[in-house]
Amino acid sequence: MADILRAVKGMNDILPPGVPRSEKLPDSALWQWFETTVRSVLGRYGYQHLLTPVVEPTALFVRGLGEVTDIVEKEMYSFVDSMNGDKLTLRPEATAGIVRAMIEHNALYNGPLRIWTMGPMFRHEKPQKGRYRQFNQLDVEALGFAGPDVDAEMILIGRTLWRELGLVEGRHVRLELNSLGQPDERRAHRDALVRHFEQHADQLDTEAQRRLHSNPLRILDTKNPSMQALVESAPKLMDFLGEASLAHFASVRAVLDAAGLEYRVNPRLVRGMDYYNLTVFEWVTDQLGSQGTVCGGGRYDGLIEQLGGKPAPAVGFGLGIERLLLLIQELGLPVPSTAPRVYAIVTSAGAVPQAIVALEALRAAGVPVLMHAGGGSMKAQFKRADASGARYALIFGDDEVARGEVALKDLRQAEAPQRSLPIAGASTWAGDLLNA
Ligand code: ATP
Ligand code: MG
Repeated sequence: MADILRAVKGMNDILPPGVPRSEKLPDSALWQWFETTVRSVLGRYGYQHLLTPVVEPTALFVRGLGEVTDIVEKEMYSFVDSMNGDKLTLRPEATAGIVRAMIEHNALYNGPLRIWTMGPMFRHEKPQKGRYRQFNQLDVEALGFAGPDVDAEMILIGRTLWRELGLVEGRHVRLELNSLGQPDERRAHRDALVRHFEQHADQLDTEAQRRLHSNPLRILDTKNPSMQALVESAPKLMDFLGEASLAHFASVRAVLDAAGLEYRVNPRLVRGMDYYNLTVFEWVTDQLGSQGTVCGGGRYDGLIEQLGGKPAPAVGFGLGIERLLLLIQELGLPVPSTAPRVYAIVTSAGAVPQAIVALEALRAAGVPVLMHAGGGSMKAQFKRADASGARYALIFGDDEVARGEVALKDLRQAEAPQRSLPIAGASTWAGDLLNA
């Protein structure tokens, strides 16, 4: 056999349940359940669907995310279009593209917008559990809203999603919250931070030294144990926030408190992109090792203007779908069955057309039916029927079909008597298959 071709490292196939695979990854049934839940939840909050291209001009991310962010410095899949020399990038995140689209189509002309999108993102990182080079995000954005009420709405959307997926907030996922204030407040804090680290330059590791003047805030994110004390004693941004920023934060908290949602204010919570201000938040879990953030977001009031649009505030979040589904899988939470309701056994070759017409009528009436295709003995087909997880088998055998009938067998109740049903009237008894 010739060498087989494999998927690119860090980029995964999402396989149907039952297909064995070496790496632990969510299957497509879990995936589909997530998507259905997302559509339902976001529909109830009045969010609309938007789709943007996977490829964008490189300049969009350099300008939008900030030149010295991890993503732009070392994680982007950028390339030159060999046809025309354009500099392009596979999107590493969704917000910049959404904002680009909103500006390009003057979409906020008639007022603010609530939107969501879902799809693949690309980052050249070291692949590991919960961290891939192609991964998928749900992205939810509210554009043109300035108030803390919408920040709280964003967070509550997360809670509703967790609940409908069977996750318990506080136990499986916890909320961390912070305020980054406004750019001038951040600058004052940054200056104080640089002074603090400069005074203790001998304690900085090489990465921190490199970041000291380019991105000192990221030093606070260090995982180096020998720098923890230095980071703990660093000036806190919260002490640099003015009255308006503090009031905004207090209003977000007031809603969360009223909604009975527990959270931890984490003054060290900073996000990877430069565009955030005021509220930032993350939903984290202890169950996925160091890839513990399943969802992160916040306010980005300056980004629309920064990308050339008419100034407008905005807030949003990105959720890592693989991480969330891995979490659901690891916790062993119940997932809705994808088994068909009915498995059709067709042992009479001549009966295939009649059988298929009857199955079409059942499906039109809303009954999920899996048809045995490819022939085989009654015994072999029953084995398949059982393995499919179906509740019923419909048996199109020679004798039954000759009488214009089909036999119905309850696969999950051995004592239940077999019934004969008229093939021609499938739509009249379809409902019986859905009840009980
Ligand atoms: P991390 O600190 O884990 O690298 P991040 O801050 O870079 O995350 P964001 O840019 O905020 O992540 O993206 C939002 C979410 O997308 C993350 O919380 C995470 O769930 C998911 N995510 C980010 N990068 C990856 C990746 N390489 N593989 C899988 N999921 C990812
Ligand atoms: Mg990252």
